[in-house]
Amino acid sequence: MKHKTITTAFVGIIALTMVVGCSPKKSQTAKEEPAINIVNMDTTVRPGDDFYQYANGSWMKNNPIPADNSRWGAFETLMEENYKQLQTIMDEAAAAKDAKAGSVQQKIGDFFATGMDTVKLEKEGIKAIQPELDKIAAIKTLTDVQKHIAYMQASGMSTLFYFYAGQDEKNSNAIIANFYQGGLGLADRDYYLSTDERSKEIRGEYVKHIAKMFELTGEAKEQAAKIAEQIMQLETQLANVSSTRLALRDPIANYNKNNLEGLKKIAPQYDWTAYFQTLGLPKTDEINVGQPKFIAEMAKMTTKIPVDQWKTYFKWNLIRTAAPYLSDAFVKQNFAFNGTVLRGVTEMKPRWKRVLNETSDALGEAVGQLYVEKYFPAKAKQRMVELCGNLKAALKDRIQNLKWMSDVTKKEAILKLEKINVKVGYPDKWIDYASLTIAKNSYFENVINASRFTFAREIAKIGKPVDRTEWGMTPQTINAYYSPNMNEIVFPAGILQPPFFFMNADDAVNYGAIGAIIGHEMTHGFDDQGRQYDKEGNLRDWWIKEDAINFEKQTKVLVEQYDNFKILDSLHVDGKLTIGENIADMGGVTVSYAALQKAMQGKDNKAIDGFTPEQRFFLSYAQVWRGNIRDKELMSRLKEDVHSPAVARVNCIVYNIPEFYKAFKIQPTDKRFKPEADRAVIW
Ligand SMILES: [Zn+2]
Repeated sequence: MKHKTITTAFVGIIALTMVVGCSPKKSQTAKEEPAINIVNMDTTVRPGDDFYQYANGSWMKNNPIPADNSRWGAFETLMEENYKQLQTIMDEAAAAKDAKAGSVQQKIGDFFATGMDTVKLEKEGIKAIQPELDKIAAIKTLTDVQKHIAYMQASGMSTLFYFYAGQDEKNSNAIIANFYQGGLGLADRDYYLSTDERSKEIRGEYVKHIAKMFELTGEAKEQAAKIAEQIMQLETQLANVSSTRLALRDPIANYNKNNLEGLKKIAPQYDWTAYFQTLGLPKTDEINVGQPKFIAEMAKMTTKIPVDQWKTYFKWNLIRTAAPYLSDAFVKQNFAFNGTVLRGVTEMKPRWKRVLNETSDALGEAVGQLYVEKYFPAKAKQRMVELCGNLKAALKDRIQNLKWMSDVTKKEAILKLEKINVKVGYPDKWIDYASLTIAKNSYFENVINASRFTFAREIAKIGKPVDRTEWGMTPQTINAYYSPNMNEIVFPAGILQPPFFFMNADDAVNYGAIGAIIGHEMTHGFDDQGRQYDKEGNLRDWWIKEDAINFEKQTKVLVEQYDNFKILDSLHVDGKLTIGENIADMGGVTVSYAALQKAMQGKDNKAIDGFTPEQRFFLSYAQVWRGNIRDKELMSRLKEDVHSPAVARVNCIVYNIPEFYKAFKIQPTDKRFKPEADRAVIW
């Protein structure tokens, strides 16, 4: 029940890297590696042939993926450091004998302790979810079915569709109700429908997995197999009416604002009045129906499919959500499919790390508050604010000098840029967890209570003004985001550490790493999606037609480059799916490089270890994306992730940038040399 994750997936947050669970930080006083460690490079390769390999080759050779990871790079190694720090926080909370009942320490301590109590979890087995199973067993009518859907949503269990509170795309000051497609146990509709070998294999394994899980609940083998087929059929029916991942990237296509009457017309088979009443929102009348086709079909299905089949489906929704919090047999089967089959991981993470992730997820800002007090230096915040200012100035310059854009659009673009809000480290105002009950009784109950707390807190915002102090990520997260509705860039404390951010390194290194990340997030305001929002965060076209056409032309070059980027011999990056991120990567590097040039003016910019500042800038950028990845993880991500694989985030970018050619003296005879006419220029 990654509730935060579920909501952030929709609430217009564009992250630097795919949002996965929790993350964390490294002591700035710990013995630091040099900012650019030349032993990590592979200098037998020419920078013009394969810059990714040149910058990271030895690191990749010497850092194989640990058995309990699907990939291993800068993000993951930093996360290991953070695990240790978060564990200190958990241990201290769990050991605090004087923690007052209801205090944050008590909640963190008890949540973590129930997760670690394997004796209790084994003893309870399936009984831990008995009250939930009883609720499903009591369902008798279609009305009960529809009511139960609302109940599951409010408990953070993913079921037929999603409901959440989000900013009105065309009026960013208002929070309205939103519906979004859902109901699938696999991460993408294509897994149900595609005819490629990998999708077929996943489908076969998924059906087996469902059957095994039902067997664990006490179902006979034959019956469990039948149930699994039935669930697969139902989910395939949903997949058939689901929008593709690509279609979901189009903000206009997914904006269908209605009132209650409109919703009733789209999906008349569903009792929406009762639905909103169950959620405690009887007056809801501003509703965005993200994917009307899906909502219409899903409503029809509720009346056509027999009640008993829905009960089985709900049971599946429950088991697959609850599995990580139950006894060993459930945990192992859940991992066998979600870890091994889908990601190629052979070993589970140790329990303490898994429980720590859950605690950090459930009590995100409570953990975050303790985390920043202990580990986040105030100086880092000042430095970041300064860097963001320099990046803004550099992007403004670049926009002013663009050849393909008219002055009218430039003026609007600059107004939008200047209005981008910057958040660094942690929120000024913390979430109050007072009404969340966490006790020593049950791990599953604690998880559910946290999900209910989050859901209730979220939907209470509907109809109220937007709180601009809120954060969409916790401080301990190693990630960053741009929100088009808020027109803001956000950098949690977690990412403000090496190799992303160095308190004491030379400018070249910081601009290559965190500078390019800042530029990346800013550019999201001007990527193929972001450019459709104005300075107030409203979906509104502020572009002169000719400029929009020019923009499309520029981005097409980039789409083709990624489409042609081969990976694992026969697979390709999806240039269209990843275009937003790729534009941001391009913009990030270009703008940060320009900002570095300004920062270096009048300074004595010496070479270090034989590398000029310009070279160190690009090496620093490349090392952020160093990493190894399992084939299965890579295949899944090519389908599911809007971000390109790490190797493409470097090799598809640098060979477009003239300054890179100059820095490393790239020659036309080099393998990846691109004639100027073939290079992409966007921001
Ligand atoms: Zn991004």
